[in-house]
Amino acid sequence: MVSYVFPPPPVAALPIKGSDALFPVRRIFCVGRNYAEHAIEMGSDPTREPPFYFAKPSDSVVINGADMPYPSVTKSLHHEMELVVAIGRGGRNIAVADALSHVWGYCAGLDMTRRDIQNEAKKTGRPWDMGKGFDKSAPMGLLVPAAGVNPAKGKIELKVNGKVTQTSDLSKLIWSVPEVIANLSELVELAPGDLIMTGTPEGVAAVVRGDALEGFVEGVGDIRTNII
Ligand code: MN
Repeated sequence: MVSYVFPPPPVAALPIKGSDALFPVRRIFCVGRNYAEHAIEMGSDPTREPPFYFAKPSDSVVINGADMPYPSVTKSLHHEMELVVAIGRGGRNIAVADALSHVWGYCAGLDMTRRDIQNEAKKTGRPWDMGKGFDKSAPMGLLVPAAGVNPAKGKIELKVNGKVTQTSDLSKLIWSVPEVIANLSELVELAPGDLIMTGTPEGVAAVVRGDALEGFVEGVGDIRTNII
């Protein structure tokens, strides 16, 4: 029997709509610049460059409705509203045509970003980790099973304090969900429990303590959190 020098950490997990079972989270991969209008607002060329990725720790998830504490060492905490893909069956070198069969489900999520730290990292050629992968940086809505969800189309929107800040459509993803799964599976072997945040549309902006964030992805569901 294995013994550990201290108790292993609890398994990060997401609640599932209409179920008492939880979805255990393994890794969180995020796609950068996957909507043209957001690439432009970030000062990039939105041509179809190959997708690129960064990651967040699995225990950065904040479950739907829970508060998100304003993080340390930033004066510019930005919201990024995203469709999140939850992998149920792993694989490597997955074909685009097979990709959706690897999806367990979807949720709405927020790729919260310490934009000042990320911008400094971009300028100096350093990693994005501390701008993206900080504690409680990934509020996630309830997961819904993949059956019945069409990830190719549907409104994606975020309101801050009741005012729409981001609005777009999944049809504007530069790299579609099947293309992202296929491409990412060439770089790493995907495994059950992996989450993929698919990128944010334009309209990212700073939030402050006291703000109420309320987003939805049509056909998938909501994400709510308050910044405290
Ligand atoms: Mn993002």
